[in-house]
Amino acid sequence: MAGGEGDHRRRHHDGGLVPLAALISRELRSEKIERPLVRYGCAAQSKKGEDYFLMRPDCQRIPGNPSSSTFSVFAIFDGHNGNAAAIFSRDHLLNHVMGAMPRGLSRDEWLHALPRALVAGFVKTDKEFQSKGQTSGTTVTFVIVDGWTVTVASVGDSRCILDSQGGEVSLLTVDHRLEENAEERERVTASGGEVGRLSIVGGAEIGPLRCWPGGLCLSRSIGDMDVGEFIVPVPYVKQVKLSNAGGRLIIASDGIWDAIPSEFAAKSCRGLPAELAAKQLVKEALKSRGLKDDTTCIVVDVIPPDQPAPPPSPPKKQNKFKSLIFRKKSQDSASKLAKKLSAVGIVEELFEEGSAMLAERLGSDTRSGQTTTSGLFMCAICQVDLAPSEGISVHAGSIFSTSSKPWQGPFLCVDCRNKKDAMEGKRPSGVKVI
Ligand SMILES: [Zn+2]
Repeated sequence: MAGGEGDHRRRHHDGGLVPLAALISRELRSEKIERPLVRYGCAAQSKKGEDYFLMRPDCQRIPGNPSSSTFSVFAIFDGHNGNAAAIFSRDHLLNHVMGAMPRGLSRDEWLHALPRALVAGFVKTDKEFQSKGQTSGTTVTFVIVDGWTVTVASVGDSRCILDSQGGEVSLLTVDHRLEENAEERERVTASGGEVGRLSIVGGAEIGPLRCWPGGLCLSRSIGDMDVGEFIVPVPYVKQVKLSNAGGRLIIASDGIWDAIPSEFAAKSCRGLPAELAAKQLVKEALKSRGLKDDTTCIVVDVIPPDQPAPPPSPPKKQNKFKSLIFRKKSQDSASKLAKKLSAVGIVEELFEEGSAMLAERLGSDTRSGQTTTSGLFMCAICQVDLAPSEGISVHAGSIFSTSSKPWQGPFLCVDCRNKKDAMEGKRPSGVKVI
């Protein structure tokens, strides 16, 4: 009897046996339908009370539709000259980004549309905050995790790093600090700002490079209406797809990054669950520098569904902190290649753009998504309806218009067009230009 049962079991098993080659090819073809688990934790030590954060798991991709897939948002807002801009951004930015997403997209289309919606949402939030007439400004590092795809948008210097399962530590943001970013210094100077150090009595210059008027060390932020419009809210955006081994994101304000280097941060908390990892990083920062600044840290683990433990320490090897080794997705063979890379644990870069120019960031768009259901045009930034005569192409009068058609969308309302001009150092004319 027992033998019979064994035969039965073996037969059953044999019937389900798949040759290894087929298994590998199936793995390579896998669309990774299984979604990873997302575990997260946050820790903070306050000095000035100007750091704020947002952790919102399980946001509905299609609002009001519980059966739509979900995504998670993690963000840090490091305020300066007061906390109003940080609080305003925490409370409104997510809605403004989602408000800029076209309706009726598939999940892939939705991910593809995110970088542009992030730009619109950041600029809209800045515009709305400035209209309140309050001073203060904030950095923003805004991270959207949807399955294995991570999209990061940032202004300022609250860095986000990725510790991928291969043991590679990479930066998903750039620091918009005048001191460290020559390209941004050039942009600010060309738009009418002055960049220099603080002068003390006797003419000696001290401290980091700052932008004048205002004396801000950052070249991008939300708020800061008293500093100058060339301090722009246009975010650097990077979108990557993790391998199916997952990875760890560390998002933190400069209280962490001024105290400990990125690679040290990643290494010092490996193997700890997210909540403890965040605490550990704050502890390391305080140990190294004391509490000099608000220090806030969010750790997000993207974990394969069959491995619900925190990511283990990767094998010891020489870790060089280097810029991403990701492969660009551009050719038609890229998709096949991407799956192979994913299978061997390499992160795929889907999108990267850091230009401060709205004409470049909003792109040219002839899709019907630009018009509302009523057939009207819509401002690409603030999403208000425009009469056909009101829309001003983002490309009109732009030096980039040589390759784009000034009569093509996306379109801006007069207000947003004036803001765009001001950000590029042109005085708002108040005259409608078509
Ligand atoms: Zn507008």
